[in-house]
Amino acid sequence: MVSSSNLGFPRMGENRELKKLVENYWQGKVEETQFQKELKEIRINHWKLQKEAGIEIIPSNDFSLYDQVLDHIHLFGAIPKRYTPVVESEIEDGSNGLRTYFAMGRGYQTSKAATQVSETNTQGAFASKVEKSIDVGSMEMKKWFDTNYHYIVPEFEDSQQFKLTNYGGYSEPKPIHEFLEAKSIDIETRPVVLGPISFLLLGKSSDSSKPYSSKFDSLVHLNALLGVYEELFKQFEKIGVKSVQIDEPVLCFDLFETELIKNAYTTAFNVIHKAAPNINILIATYFGEIRENIDLITSLPVNGIHIDTIRSSSSEVESVLTKIPTSWTISIGIIDGRNVWKNDLTKSLVTLKNIIAKTGSDRILLAPSCSLLHCPHSLTREIGRVESQVLDWLAFSLEKLKEISFLTYALNKCTFTTENTITFPEDTCSKIKEYYQLNKESNQKRRESKLIHNDIVKKRVTEITPSMLKRENPFPVRREAQRKRLTTLPALFPTTTIGSFPQTKEVRLARSNFKSKKITPEAYDQFIRDEIRKCIKVQEECELDVLVHGEFERTDMVEYFGEYLAGFVFTQNGWVQSYGSRCVKPPIIYGDVNRPVPMTLEYTTFAQTLTTKPMKGMLTGPVTILQWSFVRDDQPRSETCFQIGLAIRDEVTDLENKGIACIQIDEPAIREGLPLRLSDWNQYLKWAIDSFLLSSTGVKDSTQIHSHMCYSDFNDIFESIQRMDTDVLTIENSKSDLKLLKAFEKYGYTNEIGPGLYDIHSPRIPSVEDMKDRVEQMLKYLSTNLLWINPDCGLKTREPETTRLALINMVKVAKQFREIYANKE
Ligand code: GLN
Ligand code: ZN
Repeated sequence: MVSSSNLGFPRMGENRELKKLVENYWQGKVEETQFQKELKEIRINHWKLQKEAGIEIIPSNDFSLYDQVLDHIHLFGAIPKRYTPVVESEIEDGSNGLRTYFAMGRGYQTSKAATQVSETNTQGAFASKVEKSIDVGSMEMKKWFDTNYHYIVPEFEDSQQFKLTNYGGYSEPKPIHEFLEAKSIDIETRPVVLGPISFLLLGKSSDSSKPYSSKFDSLVHLNALLGVYEELFKQFEKIGVKSVQIDEPVLCFDLFETELIKNAYTTAFNVIHKAAPNINILIATYFGEIRENIDLITSLPVNGIHIDTIRSSSSEVESVLTKIPTSWTISIGIIDGRNVWKNDLTKSLVTLKNIIAKTGSDRILLAPSCSLLHCPHSLTREIGRVESQVLDWLAFSLEKLKEISFLTYALNKCTFTTENTITFPEDTCSKIKEYYQLNKESNQKRRESKLIHNDIVKKRVTEITPSMLKRENPFPVRREAQRKRLTTLPALFPTTTIGSFPQTKEVRLARSNFKSKKITPEAYDQFIRDEIRKCIKVQEECELDVLVHGEFERTDMVEYFGEYLAGFVFTQNGWVQSYGSRCVKPPIIYGDVNRPVPMTLEYTTFAQTLTTKPMKGMLTGPVTILQWSFVRDDQPRSETCFQIGLAIRDEVTDLENKGIACIQIDEPAIREGLPLRLSDWNQYLKWAIDSFLLSSTGVKDSTQIHSHMCYSDFNDIFESIQRMDTDVLTIENSKSDLKLLKAFEKYGYTNEIGPGLYDIHSPRIPSVEDMKDRVEQMLKYLSTNLLWINPDCGLKTREPETTRLALINMVKVAKQFREIYANKE
């Protein structure tokens, strides 16, 4: 018999209950016992929902108040030293460890310390209890593999110690607590634990002046770390846990250093096995193909493996299957855990029948491809909100679990003819038959729908020529034409910002009132125009050179464009966790994309009428739009990306025709789209950069194309950055070391460039001295006449007054350098 299972359930809740609860807790609006009570209710509800959906193997310890990696950091006692004052303050007032937990996640500042900076103290929750002045930032956050979820990066000292802890108000470690909690309502769960090798490889050295030279260096801590795994698994065994899911997603990476890695895995899993010989260990891989790592996995003392078949080719699945020991359980990730499309059950049954023909059915578990953390909760609240035809093609987490239950039922109970038609047993209830029939029809309709297919768009993509992917002339020629046109620009150190200006409460309120039709479109339009006016006034007062309109009309840089483009839908409640309590609601790209009307023309041209300085048009690039959406799975992502590229190209042309001289196409997400395996990079970079070029090169020499990127770890994709051939590239830099700038020097980058001078994520006002220092550093690597002066990223999360003061200081810096260099000549 095949069994149904799940690897992880989204934590936020149907109505983002967890987000609201945790935020109220931070603000001191809910006290401890009530907080714990409501958390328990959310967990219990989620277990029950999974059970009702027909799932037999249900996970525990997949729940988290902030992030699962942070959970493990605290569980293993790996709290970095700088949080010691917070830990001590908790010991003093007998708190339960959550103050330290959230301090690591989001920083901590007592009110005493808060008076030293300019913006309001957001850590009000515990501040009153603590007398001391504590001011400590959050730990670093990184993207979880190639998803848009951010995890907290573990930090390790030279001889890092670990110990198993009971933080969070429990009298036992969290994984034990959650298992017992589920058991108390008669649900026997399979705890999820992040594996020791992945935990270490996701971490970094706590000493930033001595970063690890290789991503494998953190394995020196393995022996110390294994003590806590040993202890935890002993406790699991003691309370009667039957099986544990150990997540080792790094097994879908290139693990080149095979001997080192092999030894590490062998040691680790031997310790775990010895600590809990009676527990079935399922080693879970996801987000990619296992490839050569299968030999390593099969040598380990575990009892089963999870394979992501959605992200693997069928030949890869076949080859992996032949190598798995016959005694092992095989968890087949058959439902896409990271996307929102209804499964084609008929197709899945064919795949699964083929697998079972080789493996037998008793060893098989059906599962989503990965944890459902990356998929919204359920479709219940979308009914009547999303266009019903599109709604019929979707499945969120709860619907996906029902698909798994159905497939399990069908494999166990039904018979199949050679043509793969399915015969249900006599006693099958009509609902199940109908469910299958409807699934077949939905998939059929989706394949054929007129809503999806636009022949004109498809044809345009086939007609893209190489000349549409490059500017007419090389950069030096363009630069001259641009400088001639942009007469108000200073010869050296021009200043600009990245696009958005502070989105105040009033701005957000106006937008939401407009959406809920509480104010008329005219009133809203007037409001936005007034904001643009004020924003331009501020920029002129600060004496910036290239101005922006401020992006007040945009809630989100992808959503805004998606709302104009054909082929996109938006959900009412399709939230997924991004980091901590932050959720995003990615648009869904269901069909061929095109641009029925201009998207930014009105406000950009209006803004230009208000100033004699150049107004920068502000667009989001095709790769970022793709990367931050749920993308259709019925054609290659590259195809969809080119379609978006064409739409942006049209917008660029329109802006140029209206006399806009500077146009910025933001691509903050290019890097995060990189495949997990190095050997797959080139193929991705080819179409990603081509799509950007398609969007950006349809202009005259004299139009200055800007682009902006965040998370600037560019060293390994430098050629691609060069190939983008933007006239001005602004990049996030204030937090990174000089490695980045060295790369620009090393590769001889010749276009104009603006590495961010100050961190916009911090509420502090950067001083003139600090920023001068940074410019001096930059000038060691970058040529004077290519350097722009700008912040790190958009200013939308900051306060207006802080922003104004920061920009005044920034322009002062530019002017001082202009003077220095004018005198030098
Ligand atoms: N233009 C955008 C802004 O300023 C860029 C945001 C980003 O890089 N993520 O908000
Ligand atoms: Zn940015």
